[in-house]
Amino acid sequence: MSATLGDWEPVIGLEVHAQLVTRTKAFCGCTPSFGDPPNTHTCPVCLGLPGALPVLNAEAVRLAVLAALALDCEIAAESVFARKNYFYPDLPKGYQISQYDLPLAVGGKLAIRSEGRSEGRSEGTSEGEAPGDAGGMREVGITRVHMEEDAGKNLHGVGGESIVDLNRAGTPLIEIVGEPDLRSAAEAADYLKRLRELLMFVGVCDGNMEQGSFRCDANVSVRRRGAPLGTRTELKNINSFRFVGDAIDGEIRRQVAMLERGERVRLQTRGYNADKRESYPLRDKENEAGYRYFPEPDLPPLSIDPGFLAALRVDLPETPAKKRARWTEALGLGAGAASVLASHPRIAELFDRTVALGADAVKAANFVQAEVLRDARTSGLEATFPVTAEQLHELLALMDEGAISGKQAKEVFAAISGTDRMPRALVAERGMAVMSDEGAIEGVIHAVIADNAKQTEAYRAGKTALLGYFVGQVMKRTGGSASPAVVNALLARHLSTPEATGGEGET
Ligand code: ADP
Ligand code: MG
Ligand code: ZN
Repeated sequence: MSATLGDWEPVIGLEVHAQLVTRTKAFCGCTPSFGDPPNTHTCPVCLGLPGALPVLNAEAVRLAVLAALALDCEIAAESVFARKNYFYPDLPKGYQISQYDLPLAVGGKLAIRSEGRSEGRSEGTSEGEAPGDAGGMREVGITRVHMEEDAGKNLHGVGGESIVDLNRAGTPLIEIVGEPDLRSAAEAADYLKRLRELLMFVGVCDGNMEQGSFRCDANVSVRRRGAPLGTRTELKNINSFRFVGDAIDGEIRRQVAMLERGERVRLQTRGYNADKRESYPLRDKENEAGYRYFPEPDLPPLSIDPGFLAALRVDLPETPAKKRARWTEALGLGAGAASVLASHPRIAELFDRTVALGADAVKAANFVQAEVLRDARTSGLEATFPVTAEQLHELLALMDEGAISGKQAKEVFAAISGTDRMPRALVAERGMAVMSDEGAIEGVIHAVIADNAKQTEAYRAGKTALLGYFVGQVMKRTGGSASPAVVNALLARHLSTPEATGGEGET
């Protein structure tokens, strides 16, 4: 794509709205909901009835501060709620409670995978990217994180009419405004992915883009390399990862084409039509004066107690970047495994707990990826797994002890999946303990060696990698029930000629 851009450089800054996972709305006791019948989660406060007064939800503050801390922001000791005034049917008060010149937090950063260009704030893989990840990591700036409330929703075509549903009105949000530091659609998509992941891992947002709990406006401009920032357009409410890259790429191309024709880009708010794969103008951008911001008279300034802040700093869950770094560096996982296991906070938790119980990290990672995730279901911040960390740990231990083979482990896994049965009890009850009787296994080994004279000769001539082949043969003849540990040891011994020194092959 860069080939067609020539000397033009895209500049992108994202504004993300993330819904906080609170039990009640930002300023009243209603439950935030999705998909319930219209206007069943409302009260005088979120309906904007005259005289109703907002009361700030403390849990929303806690989550907003956690998010800001995870983004390395500076938290304001005192921030101020403001009224953002505009008229729209889904906004019954005629204003949205937001924050304006004194936001909750400023000056954060987020590490993203860069497109391998040389400029940028900082380079390197310090944020814990595993070796093997293509491209370097780069930090992009977070301008601010502020708290605000969501508006309602206009529903069209309900019984042939348009109605306003205020179930969503007053739902607590944070807006995360990013610096115009992104230089391609791919970087913007990566930023979004990592931001969503981060918010999910610290437990502040469920990341559900379809239901609108994680939404993004993309500001896009282009400029000649090295020139000052160009005029931007703002693409509204891109609600799917699939469209982000396409929408931004299309907008970059549209602007370059205009500028090359000698036209000017208008400061506009635009929508995106995913079917036609093109953006369309919604309105010229409102300037700030149009919103007539002023401090919210019904809410006092928000003070963040230093003790409360210090406690949250301590409580801050491990970020996905730190998890991946710890797993690859300290536990020896590959980059691929680390990224699969860090794809959801509950998956990461299951893995960490299994390892904490004493399981071998690499074996646990393999088993989780190969078996457990196949039957795992995630939904928002929740997930269900076929087994618990305790069951998984015991299953891996049985394999390690050589009590059951890998094949039997799968059978045990299938049998205990979705139940609270423990693997050891099941193995005992079913009489599954593997053939670990040396004599019986030795008999099979002799037969295998006799039937594979050529391979035996090759092995003895130094081709010790054939050990795996022999193990496979023995396993086949024992129906997978021989203890792998015993088979390996006995095979190495029997395959070696008496004068051979080694005989240890890799399996
Ligand atoms: P508004 O709220 O009107 O959209 P802001 O000043 O808060 O205005 O800017 C919002 C976003 O626009 C930020 O994410 C910022 O990075 C981005 N942005 C600002 N200028 C540009 C530009 N010239 N090109 C691309 N993005 C920009
Ligand atoms: Mg904006
Ligand atoms: Zn309410």
